[in-house]
Amino acid sequence: MSSKKLKTGASHAALTRRDLLKVGLGGAAVSMTGMTPAWSRDSNARGHIVIVGAGAGGLALANRLARRLPMAEVSLVDSKPQHWYQPGLTMVASGVWRADEVISDNQRWVPSGINWIQARVTRFEAEDRRLQLDSGDTLNYDYLVVATGLQVNYEDVEGFSADMIGQHGIGCVYDTPDHAAKTNQVIADWIDSGGGTGLFIGAPGAVKCAGAPLKMTFTTLSRLEDTGHRDQYDVHFASAGDRVFAVDFYNDFVLQRWQEQGVERHDHHPLRGIDASARRAWFDTPDGERSMDYDFIHIVPPMSAPDVVRESDLVWTDGPFAGNWLEVDQYTMQHRRYPEVFGLGDVIGAPINKTAASVKAQAPVVEENLVAVMNDREPTAEHNGYTSCPLITGIGKAMLAEFGYGNVLLPSFPFIDPKDESWAVWIMKDRMLKPAYYAMLDGRV
Ligand SMILES: Cc1cc2nc3c(=O)[nH]c(=O)nc-3n(C[C@H](O)[C@H](O)[C@H](O)COP(=O)(O)OP(=O)(O)OC[C@H]3O[C@@H](n4cnc5c(N)ncnc54)[C@H](O)[C@@H]3O)c2cc1C
Repeated sequence: MSSKKLKTGASHAALTRRDLLKVGLGGAAVSMTGMTPAWSRDSNARGHIVIVGAGAGGLALANRLARRLPMAEVSLVDSKPQHWYQPGLTMVASGVWRADEVISDNQRWVPSGINWIQARVTRFEAEDRRLQLDSGDTLNYDYLVVATGLQVNYEDVEGFSADMIGQHGIGCVYDTPDHAAKTNQVIADWIDSGGGTGLFIGAPGAVKCAGAPLKMTFTTLSRLEDTGHRDQYDVHFASAGDRVFAVDFYNDFVLQRWQEQGVERHDHHPLRGIDASARRAWFDTPDGERSMDYDFIHIVPPMSAPDVVRESDLVWTDGPFAGNWLEVDQYTMQHRRYPEVFGLGDVIGAPINKTAASVKAQAPVVEENLVAVMNDREPTAEHNGYTSCPLITGIGKAMLAEFGYGNVLLPSFPFIDPKDESWAVWIMKDRMLKPAYYAMLDGRV
């Protein structure tokens, strides 16, 4: 797009597609320490590297390693034929994009020279450096990168299952293009009905893109305001705790804005279950069980690493991520007990993260540290927890939240105020982040 189209002043004139590609999904590249540029050294390292999962992280790393390590054997394991640009799912569920705009052929992103094994891992045998596949084959490795993403545990909400999305007034933007398109339809149906109650559920714990439940609330509010009859609709938001966002500034901003927009909030209301036909939700509150009736509900189910990871020796065994997420050092991305194993993306147990922007920051760290281990050196590259969320605050406006471990703000664009809501950030979300994401998949940023 032309930078001339940006209307928010001279400072934004510098925001071009080239800028975005340079920094990818954010400026994480500048915040890593101990890094050497790719292709610079150690490129004769040998061994069999297996990457499990050909999603955002697996593809980004495969492309980087294909260039960096010509002498190594790299296998990528995943049976999924399509790639979904998941950051676009909120745009689909908000009626801004068509579902096919987030779908591409996975083959397009798999580099030549990489062995793509179209199967799923059914067992990790870490002691033996071996994987069992659903094809019946066994795969041995010297080095392993777990990039399986996460699993959405729909059934952890009593009375709910994924096939209900799009029926009984149920929406859920997680985590397929089909679910997002059906969510858009049920929101449209609710709006067309002329009134009633919309109930939005907050993140129940660690989820991918923790901002997505807020974005769905904000874009639906825009659609309700557009009817000219906002007063005919009640909008409620139920949080498991007393916050809606990790960083204080954005948390306070959202709460203040919702107060102005007439959103009724319910803190300490973790969703226990629904009665789909009665359109009733049940919450376990500190004061006991409570129910609420709705016409439309947006559900955010609990999430975890896939069962195959949870049931393996690779899972955290103590601490806040025990039994649910892959154990890695949150800085080096190396497994804390199996030094030949690394984690990348949503699957890891670490504070914050779980965005494509985090993947963008993590992939070079995993690359660098993996190459170090292959060359009998200590891993020294460090991930600072960088994550980023274009927090959509309505259709046509957003603010760019970028932060890292400790919820420290890490703004990467000198021409964007992280505390400003703007049309420019919306345009970034709508037009520019997808090409930047695809450049990441290609290993170019
Ligand atoms: C609604 C929504 C909105 C989002 N918005 C944003 C946003 O605005 N900004 C942002 O940066 N991020 C956003 N994200 C998050 C982002 O999409 C993810 O963080 C990112 O895709 C994680 O990459 P990953 O490689 O870890 O997992 P994925 O991209 O999900 O890929 C995991 C891959 O592993 C494969 N796999 C799983 N199990 C196995 C197995 N046993 N064997 C083999 N393969 C396996 C899967 O088939 C899949 O291909 C959003 C996500 C959603 C759902």
